[in-house]
Amino acid sequence: MTEDQPDRLLHVPLAGLIGMPVAHSRSPRLHGHWLRRHAIAGHYVPMPVMPEHLAEVLRVLPRLGFVGVNVTIPHKEAVLTLADAVTDRAALIGAANTLIFRPDGKIHADNTDGYGFIANLRQNAPDWQPDAGPAAVIGAGGAARAVVASLLDSGVRELRISNRTRIRSEQIKAEFGARLTVYDWAQAGNMLDGAATVVNATSLGMTGKQPLRVPLDALSPGALVTDLVYTPLMTPFLLESQARGCRVVDGLGMLLHQAAPGFERWFGPRPEVDEDLRRAVLE
Ligand code: NAP
Repeated sequence: MTEDQPDRLLHVPLAGLIGMPVAHSRSPRLHGHWLRRHAIAGHYVPMPVMPEHLAEVLRVLPRLGFVGVNVTIPHKEAVLTLADAVTDRAALIGAANTLIFRPDGKIHADNTDGYGFIANLRQNAPDWQPDAGPAAVIGAGGAARAVVASLLDSGVRELRISNRTRIRSEQIKAEFGARLTVYDWAQAGNMLDGAATVVNATSLGMTGKQPLRVPLDALSPGALVTDLVYTPLMTPFLLESQARGCRVVDGLGMLLHQAAPGFERWFGPRPEVDEDLRRAVLE
């Protein structure tokens, strides 16, 4: 304990979410469910934070009894420059979604999106084999970077990527290496040919947005198809893939699994991702 931090044993542990906006987030429900399940007298608080206040907020929160926070848009990149320690995977992805405020006053930054992505596939498609064939990732934003890192780490041997703004997928190839091939956005349908794993990592298909319009004619019925979008749970992309005979996994499980390492670091117990949690988050 440093002089300007409260004695954690005497305080209710606090965690939360910093971003802008945060009102729509399901994370308070998710962590609230786990806190009740584990009978922990803690709280998880959504906090709207403007970019110009980020550094000050990160200085103040540990002094108020916060043990850490999740980070969302627009702070996921900026927190890397404010943290004292950054995990290799967060550095590689170029963004953090989980901060731990350590008892020595240091801020530790991690990115658990890739972990959550793979854990969701392992739980909901247990026979999925990362090395069964090429993976095709649609999109090249922050979440796509985490997906690419985790797929390569899991043993995918060939990864194809396509993004509306081609330069962003070129950038990912430059950073992540020789196993990647960039496809032009107009040719994105071609990268599905022979792909064993197909991921929508764009925001297309989300309620209120246009659907993803990549042609699925080349999609093989043996492919596993997943979407990072989870509102709606079954996106038009997942529905069409399912109609073509593919196994599909929705994006909610990624959200649930990416939260587990943070909860464990902040509050102690490793929480379960199960049907009860899914129901609590969807209520
Ligand atoms: P981001 O960094 O803003 O990237 C957005 C991506 O969507 C980019 O590839 C962008 O392409 C593409 N896109 C947006 N509008 C498009 C359009 N009209 N046509 C074609 N492409 C378009 O966002 P992100 O953080 O990567 O998040 C992407 C999605 O994943 C969001 O829906 C987010 O909610 C979801 N997500 C889910 C989880 C989970 O736990 N399930 C975790 C993280 C993110 P350009 O580069 O061309 O703009």
